[in-house]
Amino acid sequence: MEGKMPKTVLTDGCLSMKKALNKVMPETVHRICSWHLLKNAIFHIHKTGFTKEFKKLIFRYYSNSEWEDNWKKLKDAYNLSNNIWFNEQYATRHKWADTFLRGHFFGGARATGICESMNAFIKKDLEKGLPLWMFLRHCDNGVAALRYNEMAENYKTNMTDPCPKLTSMPNIEEQAASIFTRKVFNLVKAEIKRGDKYSCSKSEILPNYDLFLVSKYMSNHPKRKVFISHDEEDIRCDCYWFETKGIPCRHIFASMKHSNKGNFPACLINSRWMKDAKDIDPKSVGKERRCPHPNAVQNTRMMEKKAQRDKKVERGS
Ligand SMILES: [Zn+2]
Repeated sequence: MEGKMPKTVLTDGCLSMKKALNKVMPETVHRICSWHLLKNAIFHIHKTGFTKEFKKLIFRYYSNSEWEDNWKKLKDAYNLSNNIWFNEQYATRHKWADTFLRGHFFGGARATGICESMNAFIKKDLEKGLPLWMFLRHCDNGVAALRYNEMAENYKTNMTDPCPKLTSMPNIEEQAASIFTRKVFNLVKAEIKRGDKYSCSKSEILPNYDLFLVSKYMSNHPKRKVFISHDEEDIRCDCYWFETKGIPCRHIFASMKHSNKGNFPACLINSRWMKDAKDIDPKSVGKERRCPHPNAVQNTRMMEKKAQRDKKVERGS
């Protein structure tokens, strides 16, 4: 790990791991697996319809105040003021609700299913008294199965045609097909398609950025803000989809279409999703963009410009 700590960690909510993470990796953002959380919700609260509403609080992206209002509504609707488990979950909401975790890179993972499936494979055929050499052979078979899956994905990415140009942004789609692995390309394509459902308007022109307001067609939902710098080196949306998943969001694609942009922006390529990710220097992987609030971007850029002007003045005097 070269002394580096992981930026994010996903656990099943085990208390001893929580204590260890606080002690050894205090900077690491800790998320509790949503599958385990829902399993516990079903176990602790036996009320029809509760899980469906609780899911919304886990997966939907609200403003902080909206989330708090919805939590209170859920508590009142199901009369949970005195439920110990429910109140405990409120105390750890920053570790499981998307609303509070947006902007931290988890690569799209919200459940520990990936490592659980490896656990399940190892546990299969594992018996008391199994000789060590047989256990190691069993582990080898597990690793071989994972490597086979990777090889099959590589083959699909490099040797088959993704049939691009099926969206309303064919240039962007074609470039995405040449940049990303097939699985990520399909996710990008889905976001481009979702972008078609949004309408967009250029709100104002800031010193170095264009600001777009994006909302669902004929909808009164709150508008998302997309900032696109004039040099196209910085593109951000206040939904933090890119910072969280490493894939540009539908709002960004809607704004790009509105402003007739025909190239996939370099600032929206996460190197770990590229076809040739294995050839990239490991030191440069994992430097995902941090997420200052988009409103702060404008101020940062203005300060940079001011600093440059001040330097010029100093040199001149
Ligand atoms: Zn967005």
